[in-house]
Amino acid sequence: MKVLVTDPIAAEGLDLLCEQGYKVDYRPDISPDELLRTVGQYDALIVRGRTKVTREVIEAGENLKVIARAGVGVDNIDVEAATERRIPVVNAPASLTTSVAELTLGLMLSLARHIPRADAGMKAGRWEKKALMGTELKGKTLGLVGIGRIGAEVCRLCRAFGMEVIAYDPYLTAEAISKMGAEKVELEDVLKRADYISIHVPLTPETEGMIGIEALKRMKPTAYLINCSRGGVVDEDALVRALKEGMIAGAALDVFKDEPPIGSPLLELENVVLTPHIGGSTEEGQSRASPDAAEGVIAVLSGKRPKYIVNPGVLSP
Ligand code: NAD
Repeated sequence: MKVLVTDPIAAEGLDLLCEQGYKVDYRPDISPDELLRTVGQYDALIVRGRTKVTREVIEAGENLKVIARAGVGVDNIDVEAATERRIPVVNAPASLTTSVAELTLGLMLSLARHIPRADAGMKAGRWEKKALMGTELKGKTLGLVGIGRIGAEVCRLCRAFGMEVIAYDPYLTAEAISKMGAEKVELEDVLKRADYISIHVPLTPETEGMIGIEALKRMKPTAYLINCSRGGVVDEDALVRALKEGMIAGAALDVFKDEPPIGSPLLELENVVLTPHIGGSTEEGQSRASPDAAEGVIAVLSGKRPKYIVNPGVLSP
């Protein structure tokens, strides 16, 4: 059986596949055209976020038996097209939780203490001590939009900082959210009450653009918005307007509608901290995501039930 890997993944998963006797073609720089031409030869395809597994790719993959995402979000995979062809889509949802949660905290502290600006100023020969007056996280309210794996970990870390945590997640009960250390509230309450709003939802038709101009207008002028989930959840044009007009104090983004966000006005703004989608980019996270994805592939190819599957309906009962 042949496995095609089209994004950079850690060696652990590749080793696991080779040990099991699969032939692995590691092509982390493959172009979309070449992928279309060659995918037909493979039984499994493993990607991270760069490769777009479109309907066309899935249809060209006439021997594909499984598609794996060495990470969490599967918005770069046409899951509907895979499901129509009864191809299981497996992922590694638990592997990056700590990495993304810790980056979220890093971004919150960067906003609170102006760390990127302080660093840039020092290196440009400036000593801006007075201009860089910050605020503490302790005593502030964190509003989570989505309190699944990553949101829950961010909640835990922020509680350790002495923050109060409120969360909007219509799919969880108040009791479940309370057990995680947060209060279940409506989105409106998150927008109105939070000093920091951190988004941790998947990108779905329901969440696309959910933080638009109306939501931003409801936030406190002193509040900060952090998005380490998916770019499309925040309307970037509306965010630029909100940042320019002082509707909110600032924002930090790890994810963008188009990546990289070439020419985006966000790149010009002072009150925004940007990172190039590095939430899951830690040695520990990647060395968990890669074998988790490989194990999913091995399970499907050997007729077993994978631990994590996005479209379980394709499996026989
Ligand atoms: P998860 O599935 O564990 O949690 C998502 C939560 O969002 C769930 O509790 C769900 O009930 C909730 N939710 C769904 N729709 C909602 C809505 N309309 N309103 C409010 N809540 C809603 O997922 P996770 O592992 O916590 O991942 C969260 C996000 O982080 C995903 O978008 C994922 O793609 C992204 N992510 C980003 C990086 C990165 O590098 N920045 C890495 C990994 C994951």
